[in-house]
Amino acid sequence: MTITMKVDYHLHTARCGHAAGTMADYVAAAAAGGLKEIGFADHFPLELLGYTPQEQVNMAPGELAAYIAEVQWWQKKAPLPVRLGAEVDFLPGREKITAAVLAAYDFDYLIGSVHFLGDWDFTHPAYQERFQEVNIDRLYEQYFALIQQLAQSRLFQVVGHLDVIKKFAYFPRADWSLLVEETCQILKAGEICVEVNTAGWYAPAGEVYPGLSLLRRCRQLGIPVTLGSDAHRPQDVGRDLERALQLLAELGFREIATFAGGQCRLQPLVLNRS
Ligand code: ZN
Ligand code: FE
Ligand code: FE
Ligand code: ZN
Repeated sequence: MTITMKVDYHLHTARCGHAAGTMADYVAAAAAGGLKEIGFADHFPLELLGYTPQEQVNMAPGELAAYIAEVQWWQKKAPLPVRLGAEVDFLPGREKITAAVLAAYDFDYLIGSVHFLGDWDFTHPAYQERFQEVNIDRLYEQYFALIQQLAQSRLFQVVGHLDVIKKFAYFPRADWSLLVEETCQILKAGEICVEVNTAGWYAPAGEVYPGLSLLRRCRQLGIPVTLGSDAHRPQDVGRDLERALQLLAELGFREIATFAGGQCRLQPLVLNRS
């Protein structure tokens, strides 16, 4: 049994305030799990982008330098390659400040994510009642409009949990295939990679992010994919990567995107199982 592309580019740490474990714990878990490469992608400080959320769900601005220094330390000490990333909120209207702030750092890659619609952190369990007050089909349109802007901004190498709007299992009622099509065309044009995020299997939605209709269209359009567990606990490092690789192989994907120095490199997804 050979499975080579067990890479996990979406790891958080206790620094963001809602995850557990030190970087040492995550590195140890990755090594024990036989991962090929990992990347830390903790939540980038929103205050640096000029936004103050209701709940503190990101690193504090004062944590960023220590976060980067600690990843760099592990790049020298860890028994596997470690990349420096961050998960950055895409905040519409703040593209210029986001670009200016990010330009000061040498990240290997950046994951752009949408967690907010207006001031609603719709991924936060504390605010999930709001899903019952809104039109879900309109909500998907609003959410994917932001994803499209994210791709067009060219601020990020990766789009995180592409359909996280489904997290609490509110799925569209109307046919949304045109929205899928339009979004995938814009992802393709924006030359951005799509993260296959295994945390979706453990959310109320019970589906990988992104779901099959999006993944199939990504495959047809040749949009590159990468992998992340979105681990907020060391024991979740690399969770279900083999399941994700199996799914991708079945859908016809042949490569996985890896990252270093802000560049994306496609490597063969090898999966020989007997
Ligand atoms: Zn988080
Ligand atoms: Fe996220
Ligand atoms: Fe995350
Ligand atoms: Zn995330």
